[in-house]
Amino acid sequence: MKSFDYQLLVIGAGSGGVRAARTAAACGARVAIAEERRLGGTCVSRGCIPKKLLAYAAHYRDDFEDAAGYGWTVAQPVFSWERLVGNKNREIDRLNGVYQDLLEGARVDILRGSAKLTAAHTVSVDGRSVTAEHVLVATGGRPFKPDIPGIEFAITSDEAFELRELPRRILLVGGGYIAVEFAGIFNGLGADVTLAYRGAQILRGFDDDIRRHLNNEMRKKGVTILLETDLAGIARRDDGTLDVEWSRESAQPNAFDAVMFATGRKPNVEGLGLAELGVNLDDDGGIVVDDWQQTNIAGIHAVGDVTNRIALTPVAIREGFAVAATLFGGRRTKVDYDNLPSAVFSQPPIATVGLTEAQALKRFGEVDIYRRDFRPLRHTLSGRDERSLVKLVVDTASQRVVGAHMAGADAPEIIQGIAIAVRMGAKKSDVDATIGIHPTAAEEFVTLREKETKRRQDDDTAPDERKS
Ligand code: FAD
Repeated sequence: MKSFDYQLLVIGAGSGGVRAARTAAACGARVAIAEERRLGGTCVSRGCIPKKLLAYAAHYRDDFEDAAGYGWTVAQPVFSWERLVGNKNREIDRLNGVYQDLLEGARVDILRGSAKLTAAHTVSVDGRSVTAEHVLVATGGRPFKPDIPGIEFAITSDEAFELRELPRRILLVGGGYIAVEFAGIFNGLGADVTLAYRGAQILRGFDDDIRRHLNNEMRKKGVTILLETDLAGIARRDDGTLDVEWSRESAQPNAFDAVMFATGRKPNVEGLGLAELGVNLDDDGGIVVDDWQQTNIAGIHAVGDVTNRIALTPVAIREGFAVAATLFGGRRTKVDYDNLPSAVFSQPPIATVGLTEAQALKRFGEVDIYRRDFRPLRHTLSGRDERSLVKLVVDTASQRVVGAHMAGADAPEIIQGIAIAVRMGAKKSDVDATIGIHPTAAEEFVTLREKETKRRQDDDTAPDERKS
């Protein structure tokens, strides 16, 4: 048998790659991992973790304001972007170190440098050739910016984490979760925020009630949301101000200190040598894999964002685990993508598991909807005009809960627990039989008794929603 330097060589030490490397090593395999940037990947260095730290920072603004209703007198709070970014960077440095310790502790060799496949079992890492029985491509993705005049003046989420100062006026282009989250972050930290999206409503793919609810809440907090609006170009004045040209004339405002594009991400496949080896890629460059993360070329596998499927850290981790268990653990392991919970750390946050109402209607034909829009107890004294929404989607025939959705404080923490019940096939009667924890927002889910008889047009959508 041909001998290789390693049994597994992973390209990319992000969420998926690190989990695959550690799992394979724990199964006794000889493993190396190549990384050209920092250990931990997007999630740790320029994704989930720094984003959530910034979201916490942004929420303090509301907390300071809300404190007054509870008897506190708070001196005028002063915010330092520089201090926040410095502290955030120190935490990321610490996490990079944790990843190094984890890999070294698992006896995974770390190969620093840019990797490229030169043959099915051979990878060149900054010119050094290494062979492996299996190669796992886990190179993630990168932000995508469209080709419009002046696009070089725009930033993406990568640069947003490192801005030298907080922009006074920022435009976020895009309607996905990254645009929505950064809108909440910059708004909370005190910037004037405009979000422009070319679609009819933010957060395509989420339940329509939740999308409308969040749009309303964001606008109440002062974010200007321009829908069905596209950017035609950007020009920079001598003083650094960015003038934008809109696709429709009525759109306002036009001048910003920063423009950030959050218009999707593309798989990181450039320069990896995949096309040369005949690895199948989809139209966006995503690596095509089967249920076992195997490409069409024997010995080459892929997990995570580079496969252009569901770009979330826990999914990449699960795929990394599955591929290692299949190759070295003696267990062919598939990932189950059904009932996948997810959250958007917007202000307020939203979270979801299972099907939206529209998806459920399509799949089951008839569904029962239970929904409550309420003022959280906390805001009775704070006086804040913020509402929460909980919603259950139930398949009428089987009475199984097929979707749970929430917008409001702690939604991600609440939905994580509900996801277990939905995954286990809970029926509406199981939810009803569960005694609530009082007083909480979560108990609203177990006290939803009234089925909506007729789907009504949403009354919480402001009439001027689509206007600038
Ligand atoms: P990555 O984590 O991107 O790791 C890929 C690694 O490969 C990188 O370290 C890269 O440097 C390395 N690499 C690339 N090419 C090469 C090469 N040729 N040689 C060597 N190394 C290479 N997900 C969530 O679940 N929750 C969130 O709240 C969340 N928030 C996000 C916020 C933002 C702003 C962004 C951008 C993403 C967010 N995500 C979130 C998505 C999450 O970060 C990704 O789904 C996850 O990191 C994907 O893991 P991965 O292993 O596929 O790739």
